[in-house]
Amino acid sequence: MSRLPTIVVIGGGFSGAAVAAQLLRRGRPARIVLVNRFGPIGRGVAYGTALEAHRLNVPAGAMSALPDDADHFVRWARTRHDAIRPESFVSRRLYGEYLESLLREAEQHAVRGARLERLVAVARDVEPRVGGGAEVVFAGARLPADRVVLALGNYSPANPPAVGAEFYDSDRYVSDPWIRGSLDAIRPGESVLLLGTGLTTIDIALDLAARGVRLPIFAVSRHGLLPRAHAIRSPRLSAEALPPGLDGPPRTVARYVRSIRRHARAHAREGGDWRDVVAALRARTPELWSGLTQTERARFLRHVRPWWDVHRHRAPPETANAVEKMLVSGDLSVRAARILGYRPVAGEIEVTLRPRGATESVRIHVQRVVNATGPSTDVRRIGDPLLDALLARGLLRPDPLALGLETASDLALLDAEGRPSRWLYLVGPLLKAGYWEATAVPELRAHAARLAETLLPLPPGEGRGEGRD
Ligand SMILES: Cc1cc2nc3c(=O)[nH]c(=O)nc-3n(C[C@H](O)[C@H](O)[C@H](O)COP(=O)(O)OP(=O)(O)OC[C@H]3O[C@@H](n4cnc5c(N)ncnc54)[C@H](O)[C@@H]3O)c2cc1C
Repeated sequence: MSRLPTIVVIGGGFSGAAVAAQLLRRGRPARIVLVNRFGPIGRGVAYGTALEAHRLNVPAGAMSALPDDADHFVRWARTRHDAIRPESFVSRRLYGEYLESLLREAEQHAVRGARLERLVAVARDVEPRVGGGAEVVFAGARLPADRVVLALGNYSPANPPAVGAEFYDSDRYVSDPWIRGSLDAIRPGESVLLLGTGLTTIDIALDLAARGVRLPIFAVSRHGLLPRAHAIRSPRLSAEALPPGLDGPPRTVARYVRSIRRHARAHAREGGDWRDVVAALRARTPELWSGLTQTERARFLRHVRPWWDVHRHRAPPETANAVEKMLVSGDLSVRAARILGYRPVAGEIEVTLRPRGATESVRIHVQRVVNATGPSTDVRRIGDPLLDALLARGLLRPDPLALGLETASDLALLDAEGRPSRWLYLVGPLLKAGYWEATAVPELRAHAARLAETLLPLPPGEGRGEGRD
């Protein structure tokens, strides 16, 4: 009897869980090993939170883990709370439970010979084997694999460059608010500055306000833009919502922006909503992104990204209302400014800021600073031992704009020379380099399904699911 192919998936957040479930659903015998740093699967950065107030920022109807079964999540969620609708914004904790149940369901329906092993461990290296495949290296153990999938997910935010950056090593600084318990060091009555003004900042500001920190909470980012709110109804996907003429030349960011703005205004005049335009663009974004030169991509990151992010990554209506109340009452003070430096002064930290458009700097005094700038994708600077080992082996090719890792069209990782690997693959937010849209479930589930097809191809003429027992 021939040996079962072993596929090791490193990372058991959404992406790893979705790949494992898709592999089990292929109807092919295989040994799948899902490796995760912590206990329950599916509880990565996003869905590991225990707070009910931390909501999905995507309506339930768009959160199925299976691209071929759009209602899968809503059906499951309604077995827990029958009031949940496709347009509901449910807690991220509930979504973590869903991912665990997704895997159990896939295991129950898998063909004989297809089996999943869950391994709680940290992968430190992957060593290529002569003759193909690799060995995944752990402290004191090795696991042979025919294929390896990196589903490493979201890394801690990068520290903004500043004078006095040694402050980042002090206990007054929270470098990653998603590390469980990291906010517990902040005591009621303490004053806080949040770096960043995106979705993470919103979550953390609401959390800290509930913990009784001193108000106002300060938040600062280059443009001081806060995420727009989702509409109560889900965006309508229609051909009319897609800006016309995007396919033609010139492939420049300036032309795309003009065309999208013009079309969003026209769409609103016809009774539509700008959110429909953003939603319609989503499926086209990877293609538009891959057509841009590096110079144009850099232009987008410099000039357009802050605006794109707040329109694309929106807050659930309830959350947006809560933030609006904090802004109106003055409990949250948002500034457009750049951090220049930090200086400890009498038990506090003095933060020097340069407000946007100003020549003079200003100083504020706080007791704590929290980095809420969002996950880093700069693989060279992250300092993760596994990434560092793979970089040192020349198995990875970082994107020149620090957006992640370069891959071939089948998600095989490119090596330092630009050659696609035969056994090492990528899924998750580090795909941003090639796709731009690669952070949320609607895109990641499609990547996971496509990757499973590559890893366990069906013999010609066999449809998926045939031959199941
Ligand atoms: C706070 C937050 C909220 C979000 N909310 C939403 C939302 O509502 N809807 C949505 O669609 N998207 C949301 N996202 C986007 C999010 O990126 C994706 O939905 C999804 O969680 C990404 O999953 P992942 O598995 O790729 O990464 P992660 O969830 O980060 O999981 C990666 C896992 O790999 C493990 N790991 C890493 N390295 C190793 C190693 N060497 N060995 C073993 N294990 C390792 C990590 O411990 C982690 O468990 C959110 C993101 C964040 C940060």
